[in-house]
Order: sequence, then structure tokens, then C-alpha cells
Amino acid sequence: MPDDGLWNAGWYRFARAALSPNYGPRPDGAQIDLIVLHSISLPPGRFGGDAVQQLFLNQLDWDADPYFQTIRGLQVSSHFFVRRDGALWQFVSCDDRAWHAGASHWRGRDDCNDDSIGIELEGLEGERFEDAQYETLSDLCAAIAQAYPVAHVAGHEHIAPGRKQDPGAGFEWRRLRDATGWGASMFPEATSDAISSAKFDPPYR
Ligand SMILES: [Zn+2]
Repeated sequence: MPDDGLWNAGWYRFARAALSPNYGPRPDGAQIDLIVLHSISLPPGRFGGDAVQQLFLNQLDWDADPYFQTIRGLQVSSHFFVRRDGALWQFVSCDDRAWHAGASHWRGRDDCNDDSIGIELEGLEGERFEDAQYETLSDLCAAIAQAYPVAHVAGHEHIAPGRKQDPGAGFEWRRLRDATGWGASMFPEATSDAISSAKFDPPYR
């Protein structure tokens, strides 16, 4: 990818960079046309700590929390991580293959890690996300689309149905659509009936 001021070898200028060891090359000729959205927090529902970054850097102390035992040894990564306050981290060059999607299928292709860019939002599936996260996410999506032929955006729940539920019903797809100006055809059909903040009724209330 060109070094155009926004990007340098797949690294986004406005992200804090920390190189994860969990990545590999993309297949030859990979068409990087999919953005996959996720949500994550460690332990689930606890925000603001460093555990997610530590997980992606293989530096998590598995004994630091009982929940970590359930994911002990997990080697994963995403290209990006958007914190609750909108701060943006990057762990893998977008030119490389991060390990965020697992077994997956979308727009007629399997193994979405091959040709997607993964963005983790700090959060809990089913709960809402912060305004600052939508702002960072929409700016990031626009920047990605300047460097890569983005044609699709989907949630982990869409590309691995039944196995994954993130980012979940609290994510406002319509808001991302409006902010990016991208057509509904780029998004999963299931999101076309917009889940607006006005309509969204969190299950935990
Ligand atoms: Zn996910």
C-alpha cells in the first residue's frame, strides 16, 4: 500500500502501534475488501484496563483473573482496538493477516482472516458503545477505504453465526452507515432495519 501520509506499510498514522506476534502473511492476491467488527473486554464487562492489549501481545498474565483461565494460551490479534474513550490502537499491519475471525464465511468466501481487516471495540456484546468509539470507528473506516478496496462491513456475529455474538445488538449499525455514507448493500441484510438508539432496549434492564 502507498505511503500517503495516512498509511505506512499498512500501519495507520493516527493509531498507537504495538506489534502483535499473532499474524501471518495474507494469501497471494488477497482482495482486502471486508471490515469485520468485534467487541471485547477482559474480563468481560470490565473496561479501562490493559488486558486486551496484553492478550494481543501474548503478555497476559493468565493467573491474574479467574476468567483468564478460560482463555489460557489463546493466541489472537486484531488489526485495531478502539477503547471506550475513542483511543485507537493497532497491533497488526493491514497488509498482514491478523487472527480475529476464526472459522468464518462471508460474501461467498471462507476464512475471513485472509482478506479482512478486524476492528475490536472495547465493550460487551449486547451493551451499548460510546459516542467517542463511533467517531473513531467511522474515521478509521473512511481511512481504510482510502487505502483498501472496502466493499463490505460485517460483525463477527454475521460471519460466524451461531458461534459468535459480537458486537451484538447494542451496536448501532445505522449510525456507522450514516457516518460513513456507505450504502446499505455494504452491510449485512440483518442490519438494514436500523437498530437506532431510540429503539434499542438493552436486555439487562
Ligand atoms: Zn469477535
